[in-house]
Amino acid sequence: MKTYKNCQSCSMPMKRDENGGGTEADGTRSAKFCSHCYVGGHFTMPDVTAPQMQALVRDKMVAMGFPKFLCGFFTHGIPKLERWSATR
Ligand SMILES: [Zn+2]
Repeated sequence: MKTYKNCQSCSMPMKRDENGGGTEADGTRSAKFCSHCYVGGHFTMPDVTAPQMQALVRDKMVAMGFPKFLCGFFTHGIPKLERWSATR
């Protein structure tokens, strides 16, 4: 199975996921999505759009004390991730 360095929903590095990734419906580890985005085979925010996800992640990073330019850089690629490109 293909493994991803970053969550394909919010682009968080999988290494930084304290749970090691999201979970599928059968309880196995998701290699694609982090535990914040994907639990038990479902997205935690099923109706969120790519721009909304960008804003959410950016706000979260700013709250965590990251410099603004870094937050913009980090969230820039979110619309290109698999979750968002597959639905189009
Ligand atoms: Zn995620």
